Amino acid sequence: MHKHVTRFAPSPTGYLHLGHAYSALFCAEKGDRFLLRIEDIDQGRCRPEYIAAIYEDLAWLGLNWDIPVRCQSQHMDEYAKALHQLAEMGLLYPCFCTRKDIQAEIERAGHAPHGPDGILYPGTCRTLSRAQQEDLKASGKSFALRLDMTKAIKMAGPLSWLDHDKGMQKATPEIFGDVVLARKDTPTSYHLSVTLDDNLQGITLVTRGEDLFHASHIHRLLQALLELDVPEYHHHGLLVGEDGKRFAKRDKSLTIRSLREKGLSVDELLNRLK
Ligand code: GLU
Repeated sequence: MHKHVTRFAPSPTGYLHLGHAYSALFCAEKGDRFLLRIEDIDQGRCRPEYIAAIYEDLAWLGLNWDIPVRCQSQHMDEYAKALHQLAEMGLLYPCFCTRKDIQAEIERAGHAPHGPDGILYPGTCRTLSRAQQEDLKASGKSFALRLDMTKAIKMAGPLSWLDHDKGMQKATPEIFGDVVLARKDTPTSYHLSVTLDDNLQGITLVTRGEDLFHASHIHRLLQALLELDVPEYHHHGLLVGEDGKRFAKRDKSLTIRSLREKGLSVDELLNRLK
């Protein structure tokens, strides 16, 4: 067994709930070195009080993490550099489409292939000429940057990754179509930031819930394109509540904080996670 560096990477958009507690403990247990990362690229939804609460709740659970903690919002220049690299490789294009435009295009085409995150982008902006792109930018229209998936896969060649639970996986990022790598509202994306950070932090085993299993196909592709180290993965099952539904930030009653305030001890909480 070799030693692993793992990380727990919550987004501070709400208080941590029982599902997070399970995930954080799973991650800490798998790592010989355990890191914490605050995924706060979504400035509209992230709040400083949720970051403070993450530290407090994880410490209450008895977790220790190595410092420094990486906060994604402080590393936008690194994401910009990677985007520049991908753009130089001819793999990105600006997409000016609104949700409405995408819907209209799909209705026009009469079919709507789906991927793990919903409807696949129909590729409307992929064929814009450089002049059209410049005109639209000059008119002040906001745009996202999308990955030209077909081109990217061709460049990277066949790829695979190891999931500790499911075994060797063939990477099939094409199931997502042309994913957004820089959003209109923030000049990066979950996929880009997470992949770069896992490399920069020397993560050797990425642990996270199985709701993010498919995202690893994209991350594996980005690793190949950007020549990053390739970690192993362990996607764990999701904890479900008494109603059989998985926990979400909207279940305010099951936050670690509210359970603690109701007098639940750490041991009682750990028992609920078994
Ligand atoms: N920040 C993501 C979340 O809170 C998790 C990222 C990851 O583990 O890859 O859902």
